[in-house]
Amino acid sequence: MKPHRQEISQKKQIPKNQSPQKQFFWAVVYIAILFMLFFPYLPGFNNAESKISWQQFESEIISRKAVERINIVNKEEAEIFIKPDFASDPYFKKVFDTKIKGQLNPGPHYKITIGSLESFERKMDEAQKNIPITQKIPITYSNTSNWFWNIFGWLFPLLLIFYLWRIMFRKYAGMGGQSNGNSIFNFGKSNALMVAHEESRITFEDVAGLEEAELEVREIVEFLKNPKQFTRLGAKIPKGILLVGPPGTGKTLLAKAVAGEAKVPFFIISGSEFVEMFVGVGAARVRDLFKQAKEKVPCIVFIDELDAIGRTRGKGAFFSGANDEREGTLNQLLTEMDGFSSNSGVIVLAATNRADVLDPALLRPGRFDRHIYLELPNLREREAIFNVHLRPLVLDNNIDIPFLAAQTPGFSGADIANICNEAALIAARRKADAVGKMDFLDAIDRIVAGLEKKSKIISPEEKKIIAYHEAGHALVSTLLKHVDPIVKVSIIPRGKTLGASWYLPEEKQLRNKTTFIEHLCSGLAGRAAEDIMFGDVSTGALDDLEKVTKEAYTMVVYYGFNKKIGNVSFYDSSGQRDMSIQKPYSEETGRMIDEEVRILVNSCYERSKNLLERNKESLSKIADLLFKKEVIYKDDIDRILGKKHEKNNIHRVGEKTY
Ligand code: ADP
Repeated sequence: MKPHRQEISQKKQIPKNQSPQKQFFWAVVYIAILFMLFFPYLPGFNNAESKISWQQFESEIISRKAVERINIVNKEEAEIFIKPDFASDPYFKKVFDTKIKGQLNPGPHYKITIGSLESFERKMDEAQKNIPITQKIPITYSNTSNWFWNIFGWLFPLLLIFYLWRIMFRKYAGMGGQSNGNSIFNFGKSNALMVAHEESRITFEDVAGLEEAELEVREIVEFLKNPKQFTRLGAKIPKGILLVGPPGTGKTLLAKAVAGEAKVPFFIISGSEFVEMFVGVGAARVRDLFKQAKEKVPCIVFIDELDAIGRTRGKGAFFSGANDEREGTLNQLLTEMDGFSSNSGVIVLAATNRADVLDPALLRPGRFDRHIYLELPNLREREAIFNVHLRPLVLDNNIDIPFLAAQTPGFSGADIANICNEAALIAARRKADAVGKMDFLDAIDRIVAGLEKKSKIISPEEKKIIAYHEAGHALVSTLLKHVDPIVKVSIIPRGKTLGASWYLPEEKQLRNKTTFIEHLCSGLAGRAAEDIMFGDVSTGALDDLEKVTKEAYTMVVYYGFNKKIGNVSFYDSSGQRDMSIQKPYSEETGRMIDEEVRILVNSCYERSKNLLERNKESLSKIADLLFKKEVIYKDDIDRILGKKHEKNNIHRVGEKTY
């Protein structure tokens, strides 16, 4: 018996568990349902059967002279009362019936919905044309209001609005309950995420290849750990440090490592989170962030994407609404940074990849006056980053870290972290015991060019065109001296591309005009090969043409590589022209630039075509091999070209191929 009783008591508790809002809502719903159920029995209600049309009324009721009187209600409805004498008439018998025996229904017995009062009266007059006035059907008029409907009509929407408001209120309040400040009453609260030092276990151990940057921030760690050592000598520690670098180079990581090393709490917020739709919210959030930070000294505040609020003020006045808000936020940030003294223990780190667009006021001494530049890692640094991210993986014996680093030029730390994870996933998918070299190479390919799409159906004709296209790129790249060495060529569709060539860029700081031109030639070689072999060109070159066009414009407009345009550059490092619609040069110069770009691209195309014409046999051989094997490597191309071609003697980074 006991379990049974328990069951009952549990069931009884269920309604209690409901929130008052839910109970209220269900109460409203029950009332509405009850009302609808009993509506037909409410006073004044007549069932739908008694509704008749004018024609029926005229032909069957007026003609029988059975109408005693008509009452028009609210100018909308005519209630028809039948003479009691007709109660026994078989036609009217039904309408006189009541539930109580022996009693006649006093009426109204019928109802007609009238279009307008005038037309109804006119129709009545016509129907009783030949009847003396004294015998005409008397018509009365009344106005009734159904109090229930009236009250219900305005109360129900009100209750509904009230209920919805309550739900919204609860939801927002629930979301903003703790710290993220999304409640409608918490607008001005900062959304910063606070990471207590016990939770953050990131230290300098986890940061690789950023030795110089590390060295600079170590001072901050020392200060946070032991401020007396600095204050004793009267030294002032910088309040704000700006980390500048491309995405994924470890700016956030470095800031977290500083907090982790110093064992202090860490507030992290993105600049874009300050800027809201409503003016003033951003400023309030900045104020709140610093208030919170001051309560937790010593601590680190990290503002990511500082350029979201810190852009030079007064720019882009067209979009003044958003601008006002951003300016307000920026001003508040400046005020807050001035507001605490140097050695108060709050250190603001900020990250951006566009230091050039920041407001000069932000970079003034006392604010973000120390800048640390993080760059994309070089070969040695990539090796170090690989070492960090390979640590948690179970690896094969044949992993060659310098080789992996050589295969990933231009990759950021985040990309490398991603490759390591991707390689582990690939290995897990093939149920391997350890992550192998091939998994890493697949992961690199996947990140560079997208996932292989072997299921994509490509007809042999199309495959042939793709093979020639890629063979064209491969051949020209191999023959030209200044193009990066090719590693492999594939015609397996990946992501959006149908074929791809992998190059191994040399890590150089400067590129000369010849390099640019040869690069354009190799970019156009795919289309040139199609042109030579098929006498026609395809849409496959879209991506190449886009890149070639951009590069050609860069050469002419930015680098001053064109004789006719001269050594001028229209590059704008301040980023102020981002929003301007006007071009920085005259119409005539514009036309000249377009013309010169066209000449440049055409000459590169012709050069590419010539080169391929002269090596048509090799082109066909490469394309055939590619058609057969789908993926070919540098060695295959070298074997086809046979003789020691020009490029063999140039220096290459990471000579190994796979
Ligand atoms: P940023 O803030 O510059 O955009 P993050 O600091 O968020 O980049 O980097 C993203 C991830 O990339 C990090 O969590 C880390 O795993 C990896 N990473 C980036 N740079 C490095 C580095 N120098 N050493 C180790 N890991 C790195």
